[in-house]
Amino acid sequence: MSEHVAVKPSLNFIEEIIEEDLKKGKNEGRVHTRFPPEPNGFLHIGHAKSICLNFGIAEKYNGLCNLRFDDTNPEKEEQEYIDAIKKDIQWLGFNWDDREYYASDYFHNLYEFAIQLIKEGKAYVDDQTAEEIAASRGTPTEPGRESPFRDRPVAENLQLFEKMKNGKYDEGAIVLRAKIDMASPHTYLRDPVMYRIKFAEHPRTGNQWCIYPTYDWAHGQSDALEEITHSLCTLEFKVHRPLYDWYIKTLGIFPSKQREFARLNLAYTVLSKRKLRQLVEEGYVSGWDDPRMPTLSGMRRRGYTPGSIKNFCDTIGVARRDGVVDMALLEHNIRNDLNKVARRVMGVLRPLKVIITNFPEGEVAMCTAINNPEDENAGTREIPFAREVYIEKNDFMEDPPKKFFRLGPGREVRLKYAYIIKCESYDKDPATGEITTVYCSYDPDTKSGADTSGKKVKGTLSWVAAAHAVDAELRLYDRLFSVEDPEGDKEKDFKAFINPDSLEILTGSKVEPGLRSASVLEHFQFERQGYFNVDPDSAPEKLIFNKTVGLRDNWARMQQKKP
Ligand code: ATP
Ligand code: MG
Repeated sequence: MSEHVAVKPSLNFIEEIIEEDLKKGKNEGRVHTRFPPEPNGFLHIGHAKSICLNFGIAEKYNGLCNLRFDDTNPEKEEQEYIDAIKKDIQWLGFNWDDREYYASDYFHNLYEFAIQLIKEGKAYVDDQTAEEIAASRGTPTEPGRESPFRDRPVAENLQLFEKMKNGKYDEGAIVLRAKIDMASPHTYLRDPVMYRIKFAEHPRTGNQWCIYPTYDWAHGQSDALEEITHSLCTLEFKVHRPLYDWYIKTLGIFPSKQREFARLNLAYTVLSKRKLRQLVEEGYVSGWDDPRMPTLSGMRRRGYTPGSIKNFCDTIGVARRDGVVDMALLEHNIRNDLNKVARRVMGVLRPLKVIITNFPEGEVAMCTAINNPEDENAGTREIPFAREVYIEKNDFMEDPPKKFFRLGPGREVRLKYAYIIKCESYDKDPATGEITTVYCSYDPDTKSGADTSGKKVKGTLSWVAAAHAVDAELRLYDRLFSVEDPEGDKEKDFKAFINPDSLEILTGSKVEPGLRSASVLEHFQFERQGYFNVDPDSAPEKLIFNKTVGLRDNWARMQQKKP
């Protein structure tokens, strides 16, 4: 008798930590995470990784995940970003129910916590300038210097802090600092700043406050107030962890725990809202949703699917160390997804007219085309074939090499779902050398599905009937940057590496007539050409398609080449 052994999928290290905590009965077996975007830009694919992790963990362990806007910086934040962030998370398929929180909702709690620390002699008002504070912080190997204002009596600190809150000081005049240890090996524990003065209107609290909490002072306390059990953030916050723990412990509030994972870095792009914002504001792209942007809104417009982004995040997994991921892996996931759902259609990117000389003028032959060979239920459709058709310019060569299995003088090819044609002659512009028209004969016995000729040809071309085809604008995209790591050169601004050829617009393309009624964001595979989707600016009078991704799977090829 053999025993049946089920293979348990391996856990990532965050899941290991959580399962360990659950085993120990921590937090009464509760798992509660949060996704904490700062509303200073649109979400990018790096955020998708964090979203999939935080919401995914909550789903897996029957827990909850909050959406919390980290809106502590009034100057850079806007409602537009809040709305866009919510839309993108929903698009990915995650749901925060009514748990939509804002760090600014806790400004009052944070203020009370600060008073508590002052009263315990653990926070003080410092009159030093920002430069003086920075200069006295020391280095990792040298201790810092204590502020001359460090030992102010509690009563004086309370009074000054009150005046600070009431707007009696100028910006930068004073700050509130935690009184921890200027000699700590953890530089974040060297009396960190908790509050600074900013006379800025906040999108949610208006002019109610002129003191704003720093990231460190706000984040852990917000976690604790929401009783977050596992606060997952990227590795650069590891050095903040001793301070995160100190605040929570000193205040005696809910013991949320911070855990760090590696951020996603993608080759040939930048993943930083601040930098992406520059691209938008300085006009390098058409907007946050420009299909070349690594933003979720850009990817949606380009035709990427939520499923493929989630699969991608699953595949790259959660690591303890930073790495760079190749775009080809994301594209591999997109192809896998679109292959199953995208309807196949005919689209000719750069048309070349072909006249079928022995096909009667004015006549139309309807041909049956398969909508999706990957999906039996997708059915078939009828497409018109007529005397004049368009094929791709690069499917014809005047003097083709042997291995060119497309059209050339005297050669035969099949027009997909239609007939076998043979090139008899062609017109050429003597000035430019451009081929302007190709003349072919067709064999009526070769109709697809009813071919009685016994002929075999090596090449099959995509085509559209000239009189029936619809004009379309096609937008083709290449990488936004021409180097793998645009941020890698310390001497040069990342924008110096923008790829000048990242967008190509084809205005004279032709697509089959049925596409006139395509709906916005609908996915198609243009036979032999790649996946395309309908741009939101597309209209029946002017069809616009974005090329989502080509057909060739570079990821699979790379995997095969590996030893
Ligand atoms: P950005 O520089 O793009 O603004 P950020 O970390 O400042 O990034 P936040 O809005 O503060 O942006 O991020 C929200 C959450 O998303 C944080 O928990 C952050 O750690 C996570 N995150 C941001 N970028 C990445 C990334 N590239 N990979 C994984 N997680 C990320
Ligand atoms: Mg940030």
